[in-house]
Amino acid sequence: MRLIDTHIHLTSPRYTDLPGLVARAQQAGVAGVVAAAVDEASSHQILAILDAFPSFVLGGIGVHPERQVADDETERVIALIRRERSRLVAIAEVGLPWYTVRERPDRDRWIAAAEPRLRRFLRLARELDLAVVLHAPHDTAGQALALLKAEGVTRAVFHWHKAAPEVTRAIVEHGYYISVTPETCYRRRDQDLVAAVPLSHLVLETDGPWPYSGEFEGCPTEPTFLGRIVEAIATVKGTAREDVEEIVVQNTRRLFRVS
Ligand SMILES: [Zn+2]
Repeated sequence: MRLIDTHIHLTSPRYTDLPGLVARAQQAGVAGVVAAAVDEASSHQILAILDAFPSFVLGGIGVHPERQVADDETERVIALIRRERSRLVAIAEVGLPWYTVRERPDRDRWIAAAEPRLRRFLRLARELDLAVVLHAPHDTAGQALALLKAEGVTRAVFHWHKAAPEVTRAIVEHGYYISVTPETCYRRRDQDLVAAVPLSHLVLETDGPWPYSGEFEGCPTEPTFLGRIVEAIATVKGTAREDVEEIVVQNTRRLFRVS
């Protein structure tokens, strides 16, 4: 297997044994992971993790949109991305807030206020030719898509995508990717999403250490889960497991320009 976990938070304190995690993933045939940062501190931590596991971890750094960080922190992360460009494959993760603002009566204003920061990252991605790993759940996906188009970003993935079918269709039409999680193995919503997205636009993620239910209940989330997502996709699509794997691997390589 040559699968890549396109979204994992290796800097989480819940991952206390990274050498073990990497060894188990490699034993399960997982070729690598794309690290996602949430702020300046985790971006620096990811650079150190890249030094420790150069053949397994692909670099992604950024500022999580659900985080309220000062503008100068965002500027320092942008400077870091410029300086470390050669070691990175993506700006990850960036996007628009939803979970932290959805209960607010003026939530649209909060989401709109986050747009300038996302635009900065999208312009940077275009300038430096990096992929973008997007957090834009539910209603924010359409807005994020509009910004991607406006800023001329060509390589992006909507991570743990949850949006209306017409938004999903537009994302695919514009050539962007959609990543699916272990929820694909047991949740109808995610299986319906897999059914709606062509295999040519799907990639896989765990968003670890986020915990999952179903068969994963109580198991610490690791890249070893990817094989089960492939099987679940194969079932939904009625396609051979090997074919799903081959196409998903190609998609991931195209998205991040890795071989
Ligand atoms: Zn994440």
